[in-house]
Amino acid sequence: MIISQIIVVFASTIILVSFGYITLSEKTKRLYELKVSEYTSFLQESLKVPLWNFDEENILIIGNAFVQKDLIAGLTIMDSKDNILFSHGKQDIEFNITRAATIRWQDEIVGNVKIQITTDDLTKQNTKLLYTVMVAILIILLILIVATRLIIQRILQKPLNQLINGIDLAAKGEYDVAFLPASQKEIQIITSKFKGMADKIQARETTLTHVNQTMADEIHDRKEAEKKARELNEELEQRVAQRTQLLEKTNRELEDTVEQVNHLAEEAKAANTAKSDFLANMSHEIRTPMNGVIGMTDLLLGTELTSEQLEFAQTINTSGNALLYLINDILDYSKIEAGKLDLEIIDFDLRVTLDSVGDLIAVKAQEKGLEYITEIHPEVPSFLRGDPGRVRQILVNLSGNAVKFTQTGEVVIRAELGDKSRESATIRFSVKDTGIGIPPDKVDKLFRSFSQVDSSTTRKYGGTGLGLSISKKLAQMMGGQIGVNSGEGSGSEFWFTARFEKQKTLPKPITLTQDIQSKKILIIDDNETNRLVLNRQLALWGCRPDEANGSEQALKMLGDAVKIKRPYNLAIIDMQMPGLNGKDLGKKIKGNPDTRDIRLILMTSMGERGDAKTMEKIGFDAYLPKPVKMVKFHDCLNMVFNRSKQPEDTTSANIITQYSVSEDQKRKIHILLAEDNRINQKVALRMLSKIGYKTDTVENGQQAVDALGKKDYDLVLMDCQMPILDGYEATKKIRTPETGILNSNVPIIAMTANAMKGDREKCLESGMNDYITKPVKLEQLAETISLWIEPKS
Ligand code: ADP
Repeated sequence: MIISQIIVVFASTIILVSFGYITLSEKTKRLYELKVSEYTSFLQESLKVPLWNFDEENILIIGNAFVQKDLIAGLTIMDSKDNILFSHGKQDIEFNITRAATIRWQDEIVGNVKIQITTDDLTKQNTKLLYTVMVAILIILLILIVATRLIIQRILQKPLNQLINGIDLAAKGEYDVAFLPASQKEIQIITSKFKGMADKIQARETTLTHVNQTMADEIHDRKEAEKKARELNEELEQRVAQRTQLLEKTNRELEDTVEQVNHLAEEAKAANTAKSDFLANMSHEIRTPMNGVIGMTDLLLGTELTSEQLEFAQTINTSGNALLYLINDILDYSKIEAGKLDLEIIDFDLRVTLDSVGDLIAVKAQEKGLEYITEIHPEVPSFLRGDPGRVRQILVNLSGNAVKFTQTGEVVIRAELGDKSRESATIRFSVKDTGIGIPPDKVDKLFRSFSQVDSSTTRKYGGTGLGLSISKKLAQMMGGQIGVNSGEGSGSEFWFTARFEKQKTLPKPITLTQDIQSKKILIIDDNETNRLVLNRQLALWGCRPDEANGSEQALKMLGDAVKIKRPYNLAIIDMQMPGLNGKDLGKKIKGNPDTRDIRLILMTSMGERGDAKTMEKIGFDAYLPKPVKMVKFHDCLNMVFNRSKQPEDTTSANIITQYSVSEDQKRKIHILLAEDNRINQKVALRMLSKIGYKTDTVENGQQAVDALGKKDYDLVLMDCQMPILDGYEATKKIRTPETGILNSNVPIIAMTANAMKGDREKCLESGMNDYITKPVKLEQLAETISLWIEPKS
């Protein structure tokens, strides 16, 4: 430290002194310059006169006097022609400054002078001074260093030594060190801080020792525990090994069991397949003879019979239908059990489906004197995709029950729109009756299989108790629910919902002819629901309907309208009304000259043979059985208003009936029937002739192909299972142009006893256009054929 101090002090002294020396030299030099200028001016002044006068003596005196001055080292005085007049120079002296000047007298050069000056003395003086200063500074500095060292040693050395000693002791683990009070404040702080630190370290060391002890105890305990755990582990491993052995054994046993179960499942699957095959066979085998029984009885009922024969035939018919219903239920139930019940998804017209329910149920309702009404809310879409057969099945079941359990009043089938979107619609169907109702505590049981409200019901009304449980399953499959609102003695409302896709391309809607739009029509019926349904439908077609609840009100309304010169164009009259019935009301209207021009349509739920003729005589324009199908009703209205335009037309004198629309057309249609079973052949033939079609019969597919090669039939009714060539193969041949058929696009309708899922697809796949199941019903047959034949002129 001291050496570095000395180096620093020495170096700074040299720098300071050098700087002082340089500054001093500069200053001295400037001083000399001034002196030279002063001397030159003096000589120029004092020499100008003697030089002008060539006064050599004075020149010498001035020159000698001048060279006496300390600083002058040399002087030369010359005349104007540079001849030296005086010259003096000191020996061994270095000339530092030389100055030459011209001397003038009255602007004329009279001589020259050269002055030489030496600075040596001064430089010597300066250097001496410099050294003296340097030595003095050095001495002072050295004294200062020595003094500082002594003071530091006195003030710091002792306490520092104490501190070092304390640190040494602390390093050895002795923290209890006593320090003598130090004179310096900083040292005091350092020692007190060190003391504090030492105390803390001591405290920490005590804790650490304690912790160490505890840890040592714990390590000991843990070692003990580990030892025990090892022992336990070994024991456990032994046990695991034993268990694994056991498990392996159980596993082997389980594998055996799984194998057995798989085997059983295979067997069950095979049994299930056998069961479905059996079901399909059963269905086919039962339907074939049933077609004969029901078809033949239907035909028999259309012939002249004695009252006894009529009763027998009706009983056979009712029993046959009941049996068919039962078979269908059992078949469906077993399909549900086997998980084989599937829906088919096809385009259908909901209104046609609801009409077809009416075809089945209305007659039964009318036989009991019940009003049977179908009400479809106008916003319910018609053209949907789904399973129309299953919708019909639920509705037939619910409305069949409603008719069965109702003695008086009405059965109303309603369809209302629930949720809807652009692609789909949920429809709520309901069947409401005014029958015996169901006690609230029995409602729960209703939708379970084989359950009836009480066992006496079975005896009194018949039934298997399967209908509602099947309906429930079907409604669920259609994305809906089923339920009932009922009370004992206050009628029941069974309802179900179902979700359908909407058809993407809609068939052309019924085109309204101008003839029926804006017509004033009076609906005369004692049943309010019936009036409401007709009213809504007519309003929808653009007519102006009014309602009368009976003959009396009707006569008044018709008369009043004539009085104000706005007579009704048409009255639609219900046959069965209290007081004056429909027939007698018609007579009255036609008998009154004021109202005789009003067109009349009679609607009846209990038609009898020969009625049409009687009504025609009275003056009715049309006679329709209830429930009327809306499409037919629309056509009928059109025809009624068309007749009024041409009163002289002879054909218009005939009353319009449900058959008159296309009767004439039918006689021109030629159908080919392919059926191997003799009885079924007969049934179909009779039905077809009853509808009005000419029919040829063949006994197998090959004969059908041959017949179509010779004659252009309008339609083929094809049984599926036939010898030689079955219906599917025959259809495929017919659809192949190379076979040589006159019209390979002829409509082919399958008539089959195969009513299982997939049969319809199979038929359509082979190229057939439609499908009817046996036993074939007359109405169904007529309707299906009418869908596929083109009108002939
Ligand atoms: P079933 O073939 O016996 O009619 P369902 O499942 O269709 O079987 O009906 C079960 C039972 O529910 C019926 O036996 C009857 O007790 C009761 N039921 C069904 N519909 C009605 C109804 N509209 N009015 C009163 N009871 C009804």
